[in-house]
Amino acid sequence: MVSVAMRNETGVKVRKGVLFLCCGPSGVGKTSLGRRLREDYKKLVLSVSYTTRGMREGEQNGVDYHFVDEAEFMKMRDAGEFAEWAHVHGNYYATPRSEIVDAWQRGEDVFFDIDYQGAKQLQDAFPEECVSVLVIPPGLDVLEERLRSRSTDSDEVIERRLKAARYELMQYEVFDYLVCNDDFEVASGELENIYLASLQRTGVMEPRLKAMLGLDDA
Ligand code: 5GP
Repeated sequence: MVSVAMRNETGVKVRKGVLFLCCGPSGVGKTSLGRRLREDYKKLVLSVSYTTRGMREGEQNGVDYHFVDEAEFMKMRDAGEFAEWAHVHGNYYATPRSEIVDAWQRGEDVFFDIDYQGAKQLQDAFPEECVSVLVIPPGLDVLEERLRSRSTDSDEVIERRLKAARYELMQYEVFDYLVCNDDFEVASGELENIYLASLQRTGVMEPRLKAMLGLDDA
């Protein structure tokens, strides 16, 4: 294990929480599944991403996303403020480093609604802490139906997202787990099981055991 203790500014050791990466095509239900999981586990907090896409009805700046223009996004990217970033469906998205560091300082785990490119980058950067789940639909026809009934996007956007969905599902090998969202309650239970098991992973529990054994990291 390569887990290195993290300390806050006063030198007190803090727990490095789980980075729970939840991916899946638009319309598959990962946002609702994530919301349910976070309602049940308050120590799991949502990472609020930066995006260049326009705000949708009902969304709030700073709650759903930090909405910025491309110039601001690139400025932050070039200043190294992002733990990962990607171009998805014609817009830029990124996870600020501060979301991870601040949550760890507070002893929390972090939930990411993220695409597979971002998941890969976070897995490379934090191999011990990441657990990744790809939420899949029961069928591509069901996904299309869900996207159309959601009707937040134009026909053209829906067509683009369906094409992207197939490609995204083909990236399944990036992920530790696959959850099929056919029945919401069943999928929700499966996601919960994965989260609970991830809390007991050796890399996550290691600092606690090392402290007990007096094998503290320097
Ligand atoms: P939407 O625009 O529908 O909110 O999200 C579009 C896609 O961008 C989704 O697949 C979502 O998971 C992904 N996404 C949202 N935030 C981030 C992020 O911070 N980084 C990456 N790489 N993808 C993100």
